[in-house]
Amino acid sequence: MDLGSELPPLTPPPGHWQRLHAALMPDYNPRATLFWWSVVVLGAFALVGCLGALSGLPLVGWLQTLAAIVLAMLAGLFPLRVPGTKNSFVAGEIFIFLLLLVQGPEAAVVATAVETFMGSIRTSARWTSRIISPCVAALAMGSCGWLLTAAVARWGLSGWADAAPLLAVMMVFATGYLLVSVTLLGGVIRLKREQPFFNGLEMLSVHRWVGIAYTGSAAMASLLYVGYRQSGVGVLMVMLPLLGMLLVSLHFYFRQQEATEAMREVNAEMAAREAVLAARESEASQRHWQALQASERRFHAAFTHASIGMALMAFDGRLLQANPMLAALLGLREGDLLERALQDFVTDDDRAALNTQLGLMPGREFEPFRRELRLRHHDGSEVWADLHCSFFTEPGAVKPCLILQAQDVTARRHAEAGLHHLAFTDGLTGLPNRRRFIECLDGAVQRCQADASQAFAVVFLDFDRFKLVNDSLGHSAGDRLLALLARRLQENLRPGDVVARLGGDEFAILAEHASTPHDAIVLAERLIAALRQPFTLDDIQIVSSASIGITFSSFGYDSGEAVLRDADTAMYKAKDAGKAGYVLFDASLHHAVAERLRLEGELRLAVAAGQLVLVYQPLIELASGRLTSFEALVRWNHPADGTINPASFLAIAAETGQMPQLSDFVLHCACRQLRQWQLSSPALEALSISVNISASDLAHEAFVARVSRAIVESGLRPQHLTLELTEDILMARAGTPAGTSAGTSADVAVRTLHELRNLGVRLAVDDFGTGYSSLSQLSKLPIDSLKIDGSFVSSLQRDSDAAVVVQTIIQLGGSLHKSVIAEGIESADQLQQLREMGCLFGQGYHLAAPMTTLEASALLQRQGAPLH
Ligand code: C2E
Ligand code: MG
Ligand code: MG
Repeated sequence: MDLGSELPPLTPPPGHWQRLHAALMPDYNPRATLFWWSVVVLGAFALVGCLGALSGLPLVGWLQTLAAIVLAMLAGLFPLRVPGTKNSFVAGEIFIFLLLLVQGPEAAVVATAVETFMGSIRTSARWTSRIISPCVAALAMGSCGWLLTAAVARWGLSGWADAAPLLAVMMVFATGYLLVSVTLLGGVIRLKREQPFFNGLEMLSVHRWVGIAYTGSAAMASLLYVGYRQSGVGVLMVMLPLLGMLLVSLHFYFRQQEATEAMREVNAEMAAREAVLAARESEASQRHWQALQASERRFHAAFTHASIGMALMAFDGRLLQANPMLAALLGLREGDLLERALQDFVTDDDRAALNTQLGLMPGREFEPFRRELRLRHHDGSEVWADLHCSFFTEPGAVKPCLILQAQDVTARRHAEAGLHHLAFTDGLTGLPNRRRFIECLDGAVQRCQADASQAFAVVFLDFDRFKLVNDSLGHSAGDRLLALLARRLQENLRPGDVVARLGGDEFAILAEHASTPHDAIVLAERLIAALRQPFTLDDIQIVSSASIGITFSSFGYDSGEAVLRDADTAMYKAKDAGKAGYVLFDASLHHAVAERLRLEGELRLAVAAGQLVLVYQPLIELASGRLTSFEALVRWNHPADGTINPASFLAIAAETGQMPQLSDFVLHCACRQLRQWQLSSPALEALSISVNISASDLAHEAFVARVSRAIVESGLRPQHLTLELTEDILMARAGTPAGTSAGTSADVAVRTLHELRNLGVRLAVDDFGTGYSSLSQLSKLPIDSLKIDGSFVSSLQRDSDAAVVVQTIIQLGGSLHKSVIAEGIESADQLQQLREMGCLFGQGYHLAAPMTTLEASALLQRQGAPLH
């Protein structure tokens, strides 16, 4: 017998016993362990004792024992589940009990032990359970079986007449057998759980069905035994198969019953579920209906009170229902909108777009869309609306319609237009700005690429000396002049031409009607003539001029930027050529541009690479021919191009911000060299040097400090250094025309000049006569000397006007106490003439060309002898 119970441990033995205990009986406490071992040992003794007692058993006895074991085991394979309970009845006991009656308790003990062991192997995985189960069976069978045998022998119960008492005794035996078995096995489990060893109530509730089955088995065994005693083994041969078939039939019958029952349960469960589902569904549909109504109410509330315009619309654009906001958007009442088409309210320009979106154009289908369109307000104004349109099925409706949402975005559109205007318009002149002009140019380039007849010309203008106006009259006057210039340009264009202000004093014109060089030249000359007419600004008459560069689409451009770049290059060429003129771009300028770019890059490295050097041109006292000073002139000893003159790279240095490095190099180098010469001979102590400075130098905030540093580091006395500034620079910075207030930058420049003067440095006006210096201005500036421009000197003999100018300058210098130096003396006649005019100092190839340091040093060594 096996109850599938848990099995007990014993007192933990040391060593491998302990390990075995831990492996087999981890959940056994000492009491349960002791009990388990006690039962096992006693059971084993009983089994061994019984086996010993059976040793003398005849073969028939062994065969009967074996048959009882096999039959009991077979019966164990077909348990009869007690309907409605979890208990099952194994009919194997019938055969064991029969064996008990036939062969006595020893055989029954062996048989029940073997059968129980085999059964427990099938039903339990724990060895504690597999071992104790047969031992318990042996002990129960041994004790109860012995009592039964004793009672049967005592009362001589063997025939049909004794059937009833035998039956009663057997049933008592079976009950006792079950009690002992259950008590011992259940005892192990309860001891493990620290519960009382015996619990009658639990036993009754759990094992009552097994008890009934046992007594039934015992009764059956008794009947079989009586039949066997009366009629021999033949009864058993008939009865046992019958019994087997009955058991198997019952087994399967109960199984089927169970299955049917289970099926019924499943069906009932499903029916119950369906019922629940149906109930839920009906509940849901009711809720759904309520929700639908609520949703419809909510929709209509949302529709009516929406802060944006909304409408339900037929697929052809007819408005089926409109909310107050949409009516307000169009300046109408809600009723006025019904049955009218949305298209009626859209501006003419946008109507086709709306029809396309609604899928009303051939080959189109409606797709939900979002688009900004212009609606026509009742008062005639345009309203920009962000329209959103998609399918919509009204709650409860069968057919879908369209739902339209319209948001007034007019304010945003206007703001965007304003921003667009700002982004693409020059605020000062109202003309298109550079970005817009490039866009126009890109468009023109594309049109020309597609159709060669759409040729165009681009005219690039840069006003000459505009900076002078700005600096002397102030920025506001400069701005007003720019506006006047813009208007003058516009007045002289043909319809369709686009003029833009690119920035500063640069303007450009896209002339699609002047695509040939002849047309462009006509246009350029017209503009030059127009600009020659004076402008009146604050009662001052200003004459302006522009340098103009022109390029043509025939060069095959692929971008607006490229067009502008070439027109710009041509404009620079025009400026170089003497301003107030125009230059047509040609392929040779391409080369000039590339060259310029190359020099730009290389110039950055030139100072560090020691490629810049100074040459020195002597300044001579004309009366004595004595060398009084040198002018330091920079040269670029280019590794590939040879010596490059400053005219070719000074502008690049200024534009690319490299002038401070270049000027510092010249200043330090010149000051050091002069100091070296001064120290080489006491006769040279009074020798001085002139260094040219540019406009950007004077504008540099640290310029005075930089000059001072060069002087200190070289150990030079400041009065031996003269800084030469061109007349242009001086007038732009310091000029203050009468009747106008000086610009801030002019104030700063004048202050800088005074600071330099205070430093002890001398100042000279270079190229005097070519600029616009006024005598009154000149007298206010801390200037020490004037250098008459070489162009006057070279014209002395041919042009009597030049002689007058030179003479005037010499006299002016005398009256202002400024020394005068004549530049560019190329002949003895010029020298003679200047001497006669009273010019004290001179410089020029006739006296001495610019020379290297070595040549200058050699010249100084020969000092004493006049040069001429
Ligand atoms: P500049 O200051 O008027 O210098 C005189 C220019 O006239 C020098 O040209 C010189 O070589 C040239 N020259 C001298 N004698 C004669 C002559 O008899 N006839 C003719 N036709 N020319 C003569 P260079 O060296 O090419 O310099 C040109 C200009 O570049 C200079 O004019 C000056 O304004 C500027 N420059 C030269 N070196 C520097 C420098 O280191 N820094 C700055 N900022 N500018 C410099
Ligand atoms: Mg000079
Ligand atoms: Mg000069």
